[in-house]
Formats: sequence, structure tokens, C-alpha cells
Amino acid sequence: MQTQMLINGQLVEGLGSPYAVYNPSEGAVLVKIPEASKEQVDAAVVAADQAFESWSQTPPKDRARLLLTLAERIEAEAENLARLESQNCGKPFQATLDDEIPAVADVFRYFAGASRCMTGSAGGEYLPGHTSMIRRDPLGVVASIAPWNYPLMMLAWKLAPALAAGNCVVLKPSEQTPLTALELARLMIDLFPAGVVNILFGCGPSVGEPLVNHPKVRMVSLTGSIATGSKIIASTASSVKRTHMELGGKAPVLIFDDADIDEAVEGIRAFGFYNAGQDCTAACRLYVQEGVYDAFVSKLGEAVATLRHGLQDDPETELGPLITLDHLQRVEGFVERAKALPHIRVVTGGKRVEGAGFFFEPTVLADARQEDEIVQREVFGPVVSITRFSDEAQALAYANDSDYGLASSVWTKDIGRANRLASRLQYGCTWVNTHFMLVSEMPHGGMKQSGFGKDMSMYGLEDYTCVRHVMFKH
Ligand code: NAD
Repeated sequence: MQTQMLINGQLVEGLGSPYAVYNPSEGAVLVKIPEASKEQVDAAVVAADQAFESWSQTPPKDRARLLLTLAERIEAEAENLARLESQNCGKPFQATLDDEIPAVADVFRYFAGASRCMTGSAGGEYLPGHTSMIRRDPLGVVASIAPWNYPLMMLAWKLAPALAAGNCVVLKPSEQTPLTALELARLMIDLFPAGVVNILFGCGPSVGEPLVNHPKVRMVSLTGSIATGSKIIASTASSVKRTHMELGGKAPVLIFDDADIDEAVEGIRAFGFYNAGQDCTAACRLYVQEGVYDAFVSKLGEAVATLRHGLQDDPETELGPLITLDHLQRVEGFVERAKALPHIRVVTGGKRVEGAGFFFEPTVLADARQEDEIVQREVFGPVVSITRFSDEAQALAYANDSDYGLASSVWTKDIGRANRLASRLQYGCTWVNTHFMLVSEMPHGGMKQSGFGKDMSMYGLEDYTCVRHVMFKH
């Protein structure tokens, strides 16, 4: 197992304290990996800073070629990467291989092409005797901090646009799920010039904090919790660093009487529980109109009860474990507090699975009220709540009554209603009659406390650049 970090073109052992990395399906330690020391964090940032001059001047077509090669290497190592990811996260192996690895490779391919298509928006004479142009230039060293739910995918979302735009990167995967990032370090070592990409290992306080606060870091890109996001925004404020924040979510799902109910049930079974619900866009906060409410609740309960949890290598497994024992206890706490409310009905699930792994039953809680914690807070587990609504206005008010603003969906056959709601929902994304679908060409990112900045798409690329004005006197 590759456990060394990538610093200045070399694979090196961490010099900090060892940290245990688990297989959450078995609740067992996979490997202990030493964290980066403060000196190693500094060395990675200094290497990235020194590599910037040359990398930023490398023509886009040459940067693109390296990103395309990386995509090919990821595909060539697909089984190996999927195996590591599934062991480290408990994700079903086949779904990781079929769904995640191709999407990861595609992100690198998309940004390889996008880097060659970036444009400045003006060139002209705006003052007599002078010509102006607008450039989009890279920023310098980007510190990228990734979460544990899709380790390789989040790495791709961060690394690809930053490198494509001409920045150098120091990336820290989550301390819980570093294995695919460290394996990728091996695949990148002879690809990018030394210092262009650096991968560190370690926890938030010991490695993340010195990294994001390093004076040579120009931008911090985080995918993680709101708590970590606001901490990083506060700590980088005094040095006025640019920040890019992809934070939590609590997606509202509006299901109207005229929706195709069977399709909606199938959709929620898939998109509410994919990755054991550990997904910032998970279809977890359901609002169902009163005409179909009872039928929908009972059909969804039956469908969700058929979801099979199990070990990552079992081809029958649809649902993996939660990432850690701590997180299992957190999810359990939300469900226990909800169950203690007299109006909440447990339709299916509702408790942890006894055994060594960190599994929680796929759970549907009906008759939830708008003010309930289970409706208002991100659970990040295999748990959906259902709340009844009477009309469109109430559904919209409920949906927008949230601190989060990442993703939402509307299920209806009325195209006018779908458009009306899509224009009013305060979420970075609204799907109609589906949920969860992402493509590299389209932006992903939040509003409100879900953050700011976009991943993927040309907007994602632009976020890693600075708009500059250059003026010539004739
Ligand atoms: P987290 O905030 O606990 O950790 C995220 C990363 O930040 C980890 O690498 C961690 O080590 C690091 N970190 C923690 N404290 C830090 C500090 N002070 N300075 C620098 N780095 C620090 O989040 P998590 O538990 O790993 O991930 C789950 C969260 O991520 C959920 O809230 C989820 O909604 C969110 N998420 C959002 C998106 C999105 O696109 N908006 C995607 C995936 C996950």
C-alpha cells in the first residue's frame, strides 16, 4: 500500500505522528500513516511556489496533455483505485468502479480541454489613444482540502481546474480517506514537473491549519463542513486569501400530486441513499403533497427496506457503512432525537446494525415537521425525512426555509410549475424529475451557508484565475 506523500517531486514518509486509517465496513485499522510535519507542510508550499513561474507560463496545450495522460493512467489503474477507495470508505466496489472512476477521469479530460478555451472578455479602445485587454491569469499556490465522502472525485474536482488554469497545488485529502490520493501521488510523480502537485497527509489542526495559513498560499479551496469552512474563512481573513467553499447541504425534494410516483420512489431510493447518504446533494428532505402523501410514504418505505447493506466486495451490496464510529454515533443521535418526538413515524430502519462495521439501517421518517432538527440539519447518513404540504406556495416556503443552498429537486408533470419553482428555489442546482445527476460541463456549488465558488464547468476554471486589465498607450 502506497502511504508516502508527494513533496517537490519526491515520495516521502511523513515525519509527524502516526494516524490510523480504517476500513469502516469491518471497523478495523487498515494502516497507520505518519502525518506531515510542519516542516514538510512548509516544504510542499515552497516547492509549489517555486514551480509556479514555469508552470504558469507553460502553454495550455502542454498542461492539457499532462492532464489527459493522468486521465489515461487513472483508467489504466481503475480496478486498483476502486479497490482502495472501496476498502477505505466501505463503498461497494463495483459501483465505485462503474460510477466514480470514469467520472474522475472525465473531470481531468474536461479541464484539459477547458484550459485551452479560456477567454478574456474584452479587447478594445475605451480611452482615446489606448487599447485595453482582459486576461485571466493563475493565482499561485492553491491549498486544496478535501473531504472523505468521495475522496478521489473531490481530489479531481480540486486538482484539475487549479492545474489547468496554471496554478500549483498542495492538496490534503481527509485524514480518514487518504489512500487513493496517495496512490495517485505515485501515478503523478513522473508526470508533472516537481512542485506543481504536492499531496500531504494529516489532520485538520496539525496539517490543514499550517497549510491554509502559510503566507505563500494565495487561495484555499475546501470541500467540507460549514464549521471547517467558517474556521478557514476566519483564519485566512487577516492575510486576505481567496477562498472557495463547497460546504454542507440538505436538499429539499418537492413531490407533487401529479408526479410519476413510482419514478419518484425509485429516484429517492437511489439518490437519497447512494454512498449511504453521505452526499452533500443527497435527496434527504422530502416534501410530499397531501393527495399522494400516504401512498408515497408506504411505497418509499417498502422500496427502501429492500436496500441491501454489506461488505464492499459483495456484489449484492447497495449500501456501505458510515465512515467512522463517531459519525455513526452522530447519525444515530439525530435519529434517536427524531424518534423521541411524538409525531414522528419510523416507516423503515431507524437503528444501527449490530456488528463490527459502522452500518446504519436505511431509514425513512415520516410526518416530520418543518421545525424538526431532522428537517433542518444535515444528517449525512442513510436517513430521509418526509413532510406533508398542501400547495405550491407552502412547498416553496418550506424548501427555502433552510441555512443550506446546494441542491434541490422538483417532481411534477406540470412544466409551468417546474419552471416557476426552479426560478425561485434558493439552491445552486435544481433538478426536475430527477436528482443527483452531475456532469463535468455544468457548475456545481452552493448558495447561503453551502458556500460559494463552483466546481466543474468553465466557472470552476475561472474560479482558479484572476481577472486582469492590461492597457497599452498608442
Ligand atoms: P470536515 O469539514 O470535517 O473536513 C473536511 C476537510 O477539512 C478534511 O480534510 C479535514 O482534515 C480538513 N480540516 C478540518 N479542519 C481544518 C482546519 N482547521 N484547517 C484546514 N483544514 C481542516 O468535513 P468532512 O466531515 O470530511 O466532510 C463532510 C462534509 O463535507 C459535509 O458537511 C458535506 O456536506 C460536505 N461536502 C460538501 C460537498 C459540496 O460539494 N458542497 C461535497 C462533499 C462533501
